[in-house]
Amino acid sequence: MKPMGTENPGRPNFPARSAATPFAPASQTSMPFLSSGPVVGSEASAFRPTPPTAPQTSMAFLSSGPGVGSEASGFRPSPPARSYGPSVPPPPPSYVPPVGGSFQRFPTPQFPSTAQGPPTRGPPVGQSVLSPPMQPPVGQVQSPPVSLRPQQLSSVPMGSPPQSVNFPPSSVNVPQAPLDSSFSAPRQTLHPSFPPLESSYPAARTTLQPSFPGYPSRQSNAVLQAPSVQSPFPAHQGGYAPAPPAPSSPFLAHQGGYVPPPPVAAPLGLHSREQMQYPGSGPPIGTIQGLAEDFNSLSLGSIPGSIDPGLDSKALPRPLDGDVEPNSFAEMYPMNCNSRYLRLTTFGIPSSQSLISRWQLPLGAVVCPLAEAPDGEEVPIVNFAPTGIIRCRRCRTYVNPYVTFTDGGRKWRCNICALLNDVSGDYFAHLDASGRRIDLDQRPELTKGSVEFVAPTEYMVRPPMPPLYFFLIDVSLSAVRSGMVEIVAQTIRSCLDELPGFPRTQIGFITFDSTIHFYNMKSSLTQPQMMVVSDLDDIFVPLPDDLLVNLSESRSVVETFLDSLPSMFQDNVNLESAFGPALKAAFMVMSQLGGKLLIFQNTLPSLGVGRLRLRGDDLRVYGTDKEHALRIPEDPFYKQMAADFTKYQIGVNIYAFSDKYTDIASLGTLAKYTGGQVYYYPSFQSAIHKERLRHELARDLTRETAWEAVMRIRCGKGVRFTSYHGNFMLRSTDLLALPAVDCDKAFAMQMSLEETLLTTQTVYFQVALLYTSSSGERRIRVHTAAAPVVTDLGEMYRHADTGAIVSLFCRLAIEKTLSHKLEDARNSVQSRIVKALREYRNLYAVQHRLGGRMIYPESLKFLPLYGLALCKSTPLRGGYADAQLDERCAAGYTMMALPVKGLLKLLYPSLIRIDEYLTKGSAQVDEFKNIFKRLPLAAESLDSRGLYIYDDGFRFVIWFGRMLSPDIAMNLLGVDFAGDLTRVSLCEQDSEMSRKLMGLLKKFRESDPSYYQLCHLVRQGEQPREGFFLLTNLVEDQIGGTNGYADWILQIHRQVQQTA
Ligand SMILES: [Zn+2]
Repeated sequence: MKPMGTENPGRPNFPARSAATPFAPASQTSMPFLSSGPVVGSEASAFRPTPPTAPQTSMAFLSSGPGVGSEASGFRPSPPARSYGPSVPPPPPSYVPPVGGSFQRFPTPQFPSTAQGPPTRGPPVGQSVLSPPMQPPVGQVQSPPVSLRPQQLSSVPMGSPPQSVNFPPSSVNVPQAPLDSSFSAPRQTLHPSFPPLESSYPAARTTLQPSFPGYPSRQSNAVLQAPSVQSPFPAHQGGYAPAPPAPSSPFLAHQGGYVPPPPVAAPLGLHSREQMQYPGSGPPIGTIQGLAEDFNSLSLGSIPGSIDPGLDSKALPRPLDGDVEPNSFAEMYPMNCNSRYLRLTTFGIPSSQSLISRWQLPLGAVVCPLAEAPDGEEVPIVNFAPTGIIRCRRCRTYVNPYVTFTDGGRKWRCNICALLNDVSGDYFAHLDASGRRIDLDQRPELTKGSVEFVAPTEYMVRPPMPPLYFFLIDVSLSAVRSGMVEIVAQTIRSCLDELPGFPRTQIGFITFDSTIHFYNMKSSLTQPQMMVVSDLDDIFVPLPDDLLVNLSESRSVVETFLDSLPSMFQDNVNLESAFGPALKAAFMVMSQLGGKLLIFQNTLPSLGVGRLRLRGDDLRVYGTDKEHALRIPEDPFYKQMAADFTKYQIGVNIYAFSDKYTDIASLGTLAKYTGGQVYYYPSFQSAIHKERLRHELARDLTRETAWEAVMRIRCGKGVRFTSYHGNFMLRSTDLLALPAVDCDKAFAMQMSLEETLLTTQTVYFQVALLYTSSSGERRIRVHTAAAPVVTDLGEMYRHADTGAIVSLFCRLAIEKTLSHKLEDARNSVQSRIVKALREYRNLYAVQHRLGGRMIYPESLKFLPLYGLALCKSTPLRGGYADAQLDERCAAGYTMMALPVKGLLKLLYPSLIRIDEYLTKGSAQVDEFKNIFKRLPLAAESLDSRGLYIYDDGFRFVIWFGRMLSPDIAMNLLGVDFAGDLTRVSLCEQDSEMSRKLMGLLKKFRESDPSYYQLCHLVRQGEQPREGFFLLTNLVEDQIGGTNGYADWILQIHRQVQQTA
C-alpha cells in the first residue's frame, strides 16, 4: 500500500532515491523536525498514528521554520550545508519519524497530557513574559473544584436548554478507538482517551454554573492610560524645509547615451518603456546586451543648501489601476502557467550569489494553486489511465510543455534535471519534421502550463475522504445575545444544498459553554438528541458513530437541529467557555476522517485545558523587547492541537466575534498551522454585521475545496526554495501540508542558489498540489513555468514583480512582529527598499550623473508606496493605541494567506468619487467606465461637494461631503438623510440614484467575492468615525506621527544617498 500523498508512485530505478517517495526528502534520517510527524505525502507511515510530537514552537507566523534542505529534486545525493538567516531558526536535532504500516483510516489519536508540554525551541513562545495580569486567570477564579460528581451525560430533548443529568458511571465513558479498529466499530469498551490533567488544576465539573461576570473590558484600560503615540517611522531629519514643489520631469536614459532631463515641469517619467522581448518561447540567453535601460527618476532637488524639496506630490507614482501583473512573463514563455497561480518576485533569475546579494529584495515566489479562473480558462483535467502519470524517473517532475522528445519520440528529456526518460508504449507518438509530437493538440499536458492529473490508486493509502464539515459553536450568553448563533445556524441551513460533495458529504455539530453538547444526528431519528458532557478533564465522546453523519441521509435531522439551535439557547445565561475541551472533543470526532472544522467563538476560553487569560494589550510592554510576546500564543496547547489537526487532515477556520479580548493570537494558531483562516467580527451584532457573516460563511462552505492536500514546488538544478510563508504546516523540508485548501489561499516562498553560479539559461518551476476533490477523485494539479537566468542586475530589477515582492515583504514583516517590536518590523521594510534603490542607483547614477535625482526601475515604481502602506497596515502600524491587539493579530493571520491582488488592494484601497455618476441620467452609461477611476488616497482627493466610496476589499466606507447636495443624500438614505449616520443602514430606496448606488456596490463586491464589504456611512467632519473609518486609512497622508507619501519618498531618497 502506498502512502497517500505520495506524489511518487511507481518506482524509479534511480539509485540515489530511497524508497519510493515522491515528495519525500531523500534523506529521512536527517530531516529537520519541523512538523508533527509523518503525514500524507511523506512516508509510508503517513497515516500511522504517531505519538503526539512537539509542534513547531516557533513564532506563530513563522511557519516554515528552517526551510532547509530541498531534496525535492532528488538528484543531489547530499545537500550542501545550510546557513540560517536571522529569521530562520536552525533545525533542532534530527527527528526520525516512526515508521510503520499504512492505514485505511486514521486511528483515534492519543492525547498527551498537557502537563507534558512539548519541548520548546526558538523564541520562548508560550511563556508568560508579561507582568501579572490585572486579575487572576479566569479559570482559577471561577471554578472551584466542585463536588466530584460522576461524569455527566444525558440525552435531552431538543428545545430544552442544555442541562446535565447524571450519567451512569463511566462504563460508557469511551471515546477511544483502538488503533486498528474500523471506523464503525463500537467503542464502548475502550478507555477515555484523555488522561487526567495535572492534579493541580481544579476540575470544573459543574454544569450551569453560576455565572461569573464578564471579563473586564480591556478597553477600559486603554482609555485610562494615555496611549503613547510612537512615531512609527524614524524621525524626519535634515534640512528639508517645506517649500513649493519643484518641477519634476520624466527622465529616460538609454544605455550609452545620456539625455539630460528637460527642465520643464512634467508628470513623472512613468512612461512605460518597451519591455525586452525575448523571441518566441525559447529560453533567452543570459543577459541581453545593448537594449535600452529603462528607469525612471524623480527630481528631488536635494542639493545641500537648497530650500527646494523638489517634490511634486501629484507626480508621485500611484497604483491607481490596481495590481498590474508583469506581462513579460506570459509573452516570453506563452506556455507558462497563468500568473494567477505563480508569480516570481523577479522574472530574471540571477545567475550568481553575488547578484542575489546585490538584489536586496526577496527572491522567491507567490503561489495560489487553486486561484479561480475565468470561464473558459479552467484547468484541463488529464487522465493517463492506464498508462500512469508520466513523470521523470529521477526528479519526479511531471511531464509538461517544456520537456523535449527525441529519438523518434521514444525518449523525453526532463526540463528540470535533464534526464533522458523512456516514453512508454502507451504514451508514444511520432515526431513531425520539427521534432514535435504529432499528437500535440490532443495533449494539454504538453501545451498548457496548468493541468490536473487524475491520480491512480498509488497516490492514496485510503479511499479519498468525503467532504466533511464539522461545526463547533459557542452558545454562551454573549454568543447568543450577539445574534451570532442564530445567523450561523440560518446560514449553514441555507447552504446545505450547496455543500460540495453530495451525496458523500458528512456533517456534525458540537456546541459549548461551560459544558460540551453533542448531537446525535442518526438518520433514523426524527430529531437530534443532545448529550451534555460536563467533565472537562476527561473528555469523552458519547455515541461516536452518530455525531458525524452523512448529510443526505440525515438531512431532516440536521435541518431540525439548525432550525431549533437558536431557540435552544436563547435563555442561556452561561458566561463560560470550555473551548479547549470542546476542541478536543471535535478532534476526537473528526480524526477518523479529517475534514474542515469551523469554529465560532465568542468568549475567551475560560475552563479546562487551553483556557486563556486576559493577557491584555499592555501599554507598558510596547517598545520593550517583550512586546512581541503579546502577539504569539502563550499556551502550547494551541500549537499542539494544530499539529494534531494537521496530522489527521483537519483544516480549521476560526470565526471570532467578541467585543472583548479573546486572544486571537492563540486561537489563530489553529488556523495558521492547518491551512485555514481567521474571520474576525469584533463586537459582532447581527443587526449590523449579519450580511457579512452570512456571505463569508456561505463562501467558506460552498467554495470548491481541495481536501487532504499536500503541495510542493520543484525547481531546476542549482536553485532551491529555502523558506515558506503562509498558513500551513511544513512536512519534511519542502512539503506543505494543507488539510483543506481553496482559491482564497496563497503561499509565499523564498529561494536561493545552491551553487555560486548557475550555468543553465532557464530555470523551471513546477508546483504540484496533490489533493482529493470534493467529488472524491484524487488529483494532482500541476503548474509549470520557466524563467530566464540573467547575469545582469539591471535585468533582475527590470523584471521585478512588485506584487510578488510586496506579498513576501508583508509576510516577512508580519513574521518579524512575532519576535520583534513593531518598529523593528517597519524599519526592516524600509531598510530593504532603501538598499534596493541604492543598489539600483549605483548601477546608473554615476555614469549618468544623476546627482540629486531619485531613480528607480519602472517595475518597482510603486514599491515605496506599498512599503509605506504596509508600515501603516493593521498588523504593523503605530504602537499600543493604534490597533487593538486582537485586531492586529487577526489582520496578521488574514494577510499571511491573502493572494497578491487582495493584498495589494488592502494596502492601497480604491477611492472613487461617485456623485456625478449617480446624478447623471442612465443614458450616459458609457460614463460608467469613469466610475472606476481611482483617486490618490489622500484627504486632498476629497471634495466636500462630493460622495466617495472607499473600498479595501474588506469594507466600504461611503463618505458624504459636507456640501454634498441634500438631494443626493435624501435619495440614497431616505428620510434619515440628515440624521445620525451611525443609525442609518444603507438599503435600497425607491429612487434611481439609490438603485444605481446599490448596483455599484454589488458590482464592486462581485469583483472579488472572497470577503464581503459592509458599508460604513461617514459624514465629513464627523469625529471620531471619519478618522477611524477613513482618514487613518488614507495612506498618503501624514497622520498621527506617520509619514506622508512625499515625506516618505524624501526620507528614502536621503537614506539611499547617505552611503550611495
Ligand atoms: Zn527530472
